[in-house]
Formats: sequence, C-alpha cells, structure tokens
Amino acid sequence: MRPRAETTEGARVWTHEAIARLERETARSADTHLLHLTFDGFPGIDFYFKDEAAHATGSLKHRLARSLYLYALCNGRLCEGQAVVDASSGSTAISEAWFARLLGLSFTAVMPACTSPAKIRDVQALGGTCDLVDDPAQVHARAREHGEAGACHLDQFGLAERATDWRGNNNIAESIIGQMRRESHPEPAWIVCGAGTGGTSATIGRYLRYRRLPTRLCVAEPRGGAFAEGWRRRDRSACATQPTLIEGIGRPRVEPGFLFDIVDRVCEVDDAASIAASWLLESLLGRRYGGSSGTNLVASLELAATMRTRGEGGSIVTLLCDRGDRYAETLFDLDWLGQHGIDMPPWRAALQRTLESGEWTLPGA
Ligand SMILES: *Cc1c(COP(=O)(O)O)cnc(C)c1O
Repeated sequence: MRPRAETTEGARVWTHEAIARLERETARSADTHLLHLTFDGFPGIDFYFKDEAAHATGSLKHRLARSLYLYALCNGRLCEGQAVVDASSGSTAISEAWFARLLGLSFTAVMPACTSPAKIRDVQALGGTCDLVDDPAQVHARAREHGEAGACHLDQFGLAERATDWRGNNNIAESIIGQMRRESHPEPAWIVCGAGTGGTSATIGRYLRYRRLPTRLCVAEPRGGAFAEGWRRRDRSACATQPTLIEGIGRPRVEPGFLFDIVDRVCEVDDAASIAASWLLESLLGRRYGGSSGTNLVASLELAATMRTRGEGGSIVTLLCDRGDRYAETLFDLDWLGQHGIDMPPWRAALQRTLESGEWTLPGA
C-alpha cells in the first residue's frame, strides 16, 4: 500500500474535477431507447427492449463503469495519478478503459490469456493495458495484487450491487419505468434481465419494491448456470453444471452481487435458443445484438406464452445488453457455430413459429 498522508487541498480539487467530468459525461449522454414491438401470436401483450447497446461504449457496462468510478471517487479510494485495475475480459474492461481515459488515469484489465485478440485490441485502443494470466481462476487474485501495489481496484464483481444508486439517479430501472409512463400497460408484468455481476438485477429488483410496483423480475440464465441452481436452493455455493457460449452471463459460481430474494423467477435458456434469438433480433430490429440479449428474448417469450394461456395481457420489458458487431466472428458465423456444436436454424424457425402462434414450441417448456 502507498503511505497515506493527510489529504491535501490539491487532492480534493482533483477529486472534485474528476466527479465534475463524470457529471459532464452524463449530461452529454442521451438516455437509451426503449423499443416497442408486438407479435401476431401475442395479442394484448406489448414487448419493450431497453437498448443498452446504444451507450458510448456499446453495452450496459457503461452504467456500471460510471458507477464504479463515482463510488471509488466518493469513497476517497481513487486519487490523482493512481493506476486503476479490474478483472474483466468482457464489456466491463472496455467501459472502464473508456472512463479511465476520460479521467486521465491509466487502466489495466486483468484477463485470462485465452481472451480473444479482438477484445484485447479494444481495450488497448482506448489506452488500456491488458495483463494476461494463464489460469482464468487467478484473475481476481492478480487484480488484488495490483491493488496491494497501490492501484485502485474497481472490483466489478465485489461492488456492482452497491455502487449503483438503487433509489434512482436515472438508474436503469428508473429510466425504464419513466419511459413506460405513457404506454398502455405502464407497469410491466415482467422485467427480464440476465445476471453476470448481478448488479442490474439487484438495481431493478430493489427499485420495483421501493416504488411499490407489482412488476416481477425474471432473470434469464444460460441452462446449467450457477445462479439458477443457487437461486432455487438459496445456496451461494452452487456451481454451474455446464459452460456457456453466452458472454456476460452464466457465471461458473454465484457472484456476491447476485441477490436471491428480489428475483421472482429464473428462466434457463439453451445456448442454441439464445443464439437463434440474437439472429432473430437482427431481423426484428435491423441491427445486431449479443447473445445475452437473445437469452432475454427467449425468456420473455416463455413468460408471454404463459400469460397468453392464462388469458392475461400486459407489458414485458427486457434488455438489449450489448452490440452484436463484437460477435461477428463467433455467434454470427455459422462455421464457428458448427464447430461449437450449435445447429441454429431449427431453433430460429421454432422461435419464429412462437412469434406467429404464441405457442411455446421450444424444448424445456
Ligand atoms: C454484464 C453483462 C450482463 C449482465 O449484467 P450484470 O449487471 O453484470 O448482472 C449481461 N449481458 C452482457 C453482454 C454483459 O456484459
């Protein structure tokens, strides 16, 4: 640890300027769109998609990175000239590198050595450094080592659930509920999201109670993910029973930020269905989104099918978590899918039939 002296006036001036820079970034940014779709098979049910890919850094991790920097600054943990570090091989590293550049700080992403070259390049293009470790299980320990050597450890998995103001401050839940205000079913029957750090589901679940809304929260999880089993048994030591191709969600273990008690339901989704749904989103919305957006769509359709059989109407809101262009060589490449044992077209056809008929025809129904 660096020696801590009494904070100087200069240090406080820098902190104030850093917070002002974050505020100006927020002021320059537009809120993300809430896109509305209806499907022939689901009369009386409105579907809404919160387009988190529209953030400057292309994913919902833009919100998290902004919150983590603000939290570090307001806790006096981040000072002028201090290095910043986090363990992330995905969207978080890109958003954190982007905010480090905004604040004039150096940023290191600790990543497994097997991380795709394209992601490493994305972080480097923003001025970040990638510290590659051979054993993926060691990334957290390595990030902590950087912290002990004086870097500010943003700690997405440790702090995601508390760094965001769950009562408001235009968090994702407040933004959605505000944008729904003039719709025919302004209080959604369901909000559907994935869980990686668990930060998004924690914010939404808390906000729904705080605002005394009847809306229920469904977490869409790759089949065999740790959160699904952990949530069912209320067991924080649960482990994933199978790996997933869907990035950002489907963690091998239950992360500390995933709060069981505010999640009303967990829907498990096969990877092939998630990927087929990402392709379907491209045809519905005219642009590509990542695999976890597909997972959310499948879970939303499963909930809608149940509502339809019960004769219920209402609205379902879900998230588009990141841009699909990051997956051009993976999820959107049929050869790559074949190499990974995914036969996508039949799943896509089944989803298309569900949109038209309202009937849930996928396995696992
Ligand atoms: C992080 C992430 C999620 C899950 O969000 P959390 O708030 O971390 O639970 C879903 N999809 C993508 C693409 C992500 O990067």
